[in-house]
Amino acid sequence: MSNLNQLKEKIAELKEELRAVIVAHNYQRPEVQDIADFVGDSLELSRKCTEVDAETIAFCGVHFMAETAAILNPNRTVLLAEGSAGCPMADMITVDELREWKRRYPRAAVVCYVNSTAEVKAESDICCTSANGVEVVESVPNDDILFVPDQNLGHYISTQTKKNIILYPGFCIVHHRIKPEQVKLAKKLHPDAQVIVHPECRPEVIDLADAALSTSQMIRYAKESSHQSFIIGTEEGLLHRLRQENPGKSFYLVTDSQICINMKKTTLETLAQTMELRQNMVTVPEAIRIKAKQAVDRMLAISYQVKAKELD
Ligand code: SF4
Repeated sequence: MSNLNQLKEKIAELKEELRAVIVAHNYQRPEVQDIADFVGDSLELSRKCTEVDAETIAFCGVHFMAETAAILNPNRTVLLAEGSAGCPMADMITVDELREWKRRYPRAAVVCYVNSTAEVKAESDICCTSANGVEVVESVPNDDILFVPDQNLGHYISTQTKKNIILYPGFCIVHHRIKPEQVKLAKKLHPDAQVIVHPECRPEVIDLADAALSTSQMIRYAKESSHQSFIIGTEEGLLHRLRQENPGKSFYLVTDSQICINMKKTTLETLAQTMELRQNMVTVPEAIRIKAKQAVDRMLAISYQVKAKELD
């Protein structure tokens, strides 16, 4: 048996032993995505975990994602498959900095992107994802919105609402790295391709795109579109799923630098080791968890309303 197969077998045994569900973010390595029970964006995964019969959640992603899983699944053990995998954007705002900004803008409601720490979520009025940011912002009564931590997503939302959005200067190092000149060059190389980018990209990049979409929206868009080729402005891991689910279509990255090194820290080896040693357990102190969950629940209520309207 090859080493790879031995490793996969070991993970399968550990999964049974721990009564675990393995979930992987869309940006994980292909072999990690392939071994997971569910692949998706962070919120999708955390919610999925609430629906399955498992005692342990082995989370292949970055720290704030495992924290979100812990917020929504207080009775399950959450293990982060690679303990050192963090998100530089989530770490760009501390709870003290948020409190300081709240003092500066006392009339503003705080909307925090799900890519944030549990402490920041707990200090916010409501959470949002890149898929529901506009609806969330529209749902709060305040005219002023303090949006943290991603300035690019906040700016994108500000183009679709009359609310006054105050931007905190955080950003995703992977999406912010994509430059308009690179998009123009990719369009020259693939003139028939649709350009779809993530709203964490710079405004000048979004202006050049056919659509700005979250990762789950990109998957749906590529499936439903009559176009055959796409230039993708998000982390390269998503291409694995896009290609798997659309075998006849072509997908290109804007540049070859769309790699999140934190997402790529997780390997089958780190997953197996984490499960074997029951290490990298992610917990959230109860007082913070309850407050953070309120911010997440408020967002989920908005998402359900939007879905119900779509079905009407
Ligand atoms: S892709 Fe960006 S937002 Fe996502 S984990 Fe990496 S640094 Fe954070």
